[in-house]
Amino acid sequence: MVEPFAAVDIIKAKRDRGVLSDAQIHWVVDAYTRGVVADEQMAALAMAILLNGMNEREIVRWTTAMIETGERMDFSGLPRPTVDKHSTGGVGDKITLPLVPLVAACGAAVPQLSGRGLGHTGGTLDKMESIRGWRAQLSNDEMLAVLRDVGGVIGAAGDGLAPADRKLYALRDVTGTVEAIPLIASSIMSKKIAEGAGGLVLDVKTGSGAFMSDPAMARELAETMVRLGTDAGVRTRALITAMDVPLGLAVGNALEVAESIEVLAGGGPSDVVELTLVLAREMLDLAGLGDVDPADALADGRAMDAWNAMVRAQGGDPEAPLPGAREFSVIHAEDDGVVTRMDALAVGVAAWRLGAGRARKEDAVAFGAGITLQAKPGDRVHKGDALMTLYTDEAPRFALAHEALEGAVDIGPEGSTIDRLPLIIDRLT
Ligand code: URA
Repeated sequence: MVEPFAAVDIIKAKRDRGVLSDAQIHWVVDAYTRGVVADEQMAALAMAILLNGMNEREIVRWTTAMIETGERMDFSGLPRPTVDKHSTGGVGDKITLPLVPLVAACGAAVPQLSGRGLGHTGGTLDKMESIRGWRAQLSNDEMLAVLRDVGGVIGAAGDGLAPADRKLYALRDVTGTVEAIPLIASSIMSKKIAEGAGGLVLDVKTGSGAFMSDPAMARELAETMVRLGTDAGVRTRALITAMDVPLGLAVGNALEVAESIEVLAGGGPSDVVELTLVLAREMLDLAGLGDVDPADALADGRAMDAWNAMVRAQGGDPEAPLPGAREFSVIHAEDDGVVTRMDALAVGVAAWRLGAGRARKEDAVAFGAGITLQAKPGDRVHKGDALMTLYTDEAPRFALAHEALEGAVDIGPEGSTIDRLPLIIDRLT
């Protein structure tokens, strides 16, 4: 095959702040996926994009080109409207777990294709895999069957969905080119658009524990993704939400499953319940079910029934005890007063060092490892009270986790200002 472009010319054009044509973008994404454009060439182009950006047309074209390297799922045969959510990820962000069965219990179909965690934020699949027997890998037909029978499915995105992104994301991860808004937006949205849901709610997090810690960057990412989704015919909205403090009181795979089950049982920490309900209302509205109140489905057990059915449909045993950790260590308050700050990033890194996350794709996670919080910003504490409990299977990991947590919590005198973002910062439609 005669290739219409040379990769080096496209790299030089972007290096020199040029604008790429539709044909150049389509070719370079496709040729990279075919192995014609080498990793080092794509790495150079990704760095040029990170430094010099892309205009709106280029981002749309890049996203479309990535979608076109793979298949598109088709859920149009389902009797329910389809709607999904995507979170940019954060510390203790287990919202997908109660949200999918909740929205399914309210009458929509939720095809949630998720990933595994890398770095300090956990992945939904890692959390679900702490349930005995649960299987992430489903064929498209199996996924459709679970959606038809239960209304919600959480599964691994198959190899056929935007394969260009799979290859490019792995390359960006090792070349310092993840943090480029055009590349993040096209990466997330190519997979979500190819997934084929009719509606999409984006939870874009900001604060120290988020991928986009700067609120202005989080907003720009959210706006870019809403535009991409809307242009592609997916009804898309975004919430910008807080990730300066961990979400809920549990961080780590099995610990987060347990907390999600508390929420499905009608309890759970108030921030997790609130964010679950806010996102559920947005999703139901996009699905044309805006008059259904998801709070009722949490209160009357329908969401829990959907969770149990969803777990069983994927081979899991919802009754099986969740894995625990062999060792624990408690961190105590050093003063009387009120907790004024708790750094989400430090808690995420500590949980990761305890074994809850992985450093390389190939690593296994320790399901029982992580942290539970006994106090959060705004809570009064006395000297010696437990602030958090650390869990791991390997005691030498405690030292690393303690080091990560140094300076992570501030305690001030009664009446001090509490340093935290509002849970819901903004809403974009
Ligand atoms: N998540 C993705 O799927 N892609 C990115 O580029 C960043 C986060």
